[in-house]
Amino acid sequence: MTEVKPKRTILKDVKIFKDLEDEIIKTNKCCACGACVSYCSSQGFDVIKMEGYTPQFISDENVDNCKECGLCYYICPQTEPLMKQINDVYRIKDEIGYIQNIIAAKTTDEKIKEIGQDGGLVTTLLTYLFDKNKIDAAIVSEYDEKLQPTPKIIYNKEDLLKSSGTRYSISSNILPLKDLYSIAEEIVEKHHQIYDINQIRMAFVGTPCQCRAIRKMQLLNISPTHVIKYVFGLFCMENFDYEKLFELVKKETNEEPSNISKMNIKKNFFITNKDNKVYEIELKKFDDAVRNHCHECDEFTSRFADISFGGSGAVQQNSMVVIRTDKGQKLVRDAIIAGYINKFTPKKSSIDDWKASKIDLFRRMTNNKIKKSK
Ligand SMILES: Cc1cc2nc3c(=O)[nH]c(=O)nc-3n(C[C@H](O)[C@H](O)[C@H](O)COP(=O)(O)OP(=O)(O)OC[C@H]3O[C@@H](n4cnc5c(N)ncnc54)[C@H](O)[C@@H]3O)c2cc1C
Repeated sequence: MTEVKPKRTILKDVKIFKDLEDEIIKTNKCCACGACVSYCSSQGFDVIKMEGYTPQFISDENVDNCKECGLCYYICPQTEPLMKQINDVYRIKDEIGYIQNIIAAKTTDEKIKEIGQDGGLVTTLLTYLFDKNKIDAAIVSEYDEKLQPTPKIIYNKEDLLKSSGTRYSISSNILPLKDLYSIAEEIVEKHHQIYDINQIRMAFVGTPCQCRAIRKMQLLNISPTHVIKYVFGLFCMENFDYEKLFELVKKETNEEPSNISKMNIKKNFFITNKDNKVYEIELKKFDDAVRNHCHECDEFTSRFADISFGGSGAVQQNSMVVIRTDKGQKLVRDAIIAGYINKFTPKKSSIDDWKASKIDLFRRMTNNKIKKSK
C-alpha cells in the first residue's frame, strides 16, 4: 500500500500529525496520553483516532481532513515546542520542579484507607472537591475485568472508590475528553448540576507526561482542557506495557489478572491475589515490559501538577504530597481543617530537616531515572 501523505498547503513550516507520527509515534516515544486525539476529535475534524495505545489517521480517506493547524504536534508532551513556556509558567528550574510545600498525610476515611494505594490522598482530595461542590467531574483510571486500565470521567464521589489504587500500565487519561462535546447533551441531561458543558469543572489525575500535555493545552487555552480546574500528578518512575506486564506476572505468580487484588512497587514488585497472598518479585524482572517512552522521560515527581502524590519517602500508609501552586496549597489546607486527611508530623527531626531530606530523595530518584534512561 502506498503511503498517503497530507498536502502541506498552508504553512509549510508548521509541523503536523504526519510529523508527530514520524518523530514520536513510529519511534516509540508516544506515551499514549491521548492529547492529540482528544484535541482533534473534540474539534470535530475527523482526522485521527486512538487504536489501542497508538494515535493514527482514522483511514487514508481522512488524511486530507487534517487542517494542518499543528496543534497535535505542539501539545504532545514528548515534543519540544512550548516546553520553555510551561517551564516558565510553573516556575520549573530544576529536575524536581517548583515546590511550595511538602507534607506526608493519610486519609481519615476507613474505606479509602483499605483501597487507596498509599495514603489514599488522591481519592480523598477528590472526595473533598465533590463534597464541597468545587468540581462536577473527575478524570480517573479504573480497571476492567482483565485489569486493563480504563480512563473514565466520573461525576460523583461514590464512583471514586473504583478508581483508587495504582494501575501499572497506560491509562490514556486525556482521551475521554475527546467526547466532551459529542456527549454534552447527555451529560447536561443526566447531571443536573451541569447546565453548560463549557462550565463543567473537572479534576484530572495523571502521570507526569499526561500532566505535561494538559499544561501545554492550557497554555494555548484550547478546548477541551479549559474545563480542567485541578491537576493531580502521580510520581512515576516507569510504566509498563499491559500485555507484557501480565505475561510476566503470570510467569512469576501463575495468577490470572482477574485473581489479582493489588499491585505495588516498593523497591520490588508486590502482587497480592484475592486470597491476600502476597508475591514479592524483583523489579528487574519486569524491565522488558517497561514502555519505551519512559526511557525518554526526565520527570519523576509530576512537575506540572497543582499537587503531586507518591509513596516514595512516606511512612507506611501515608502519601507524600508535593504542593506546587496556591490552588493546591489551599485545597490541602482546607481538607486538613475539614478533617478529611491527617498530616504526618515527623518526630525525630525538625520539619525543615525533614522537608530537606525529602527534596534530596526526590532529586536522587529523578536523577536515577534520567541516568537509567540514558
Ligand atoms: C505507572 C505508575 C508508576 C508509579 N510509580 C511510582 C514510584 O515509582 N514512586 C512513587 O512514590 N509513586 C509512584 N506512583 C504513584 C503511587 O503509586 C500512587 O499513585 C500515589 O502515591 C498516590 O497514592 P494515593 O494512595 O494517594 O492514591 P489513591 O487514592 O489510591 O488514588 C490513585 C489515583 O491514581 C489514578 N491512577 C491509577 N493508575 C493510573 C494510571 N496508570 N494512569 C493514570 N492515573 C492512574 C487513579 O485513577 C486514582 O485516582 C506511580 C503511579 C503510577 C500510575
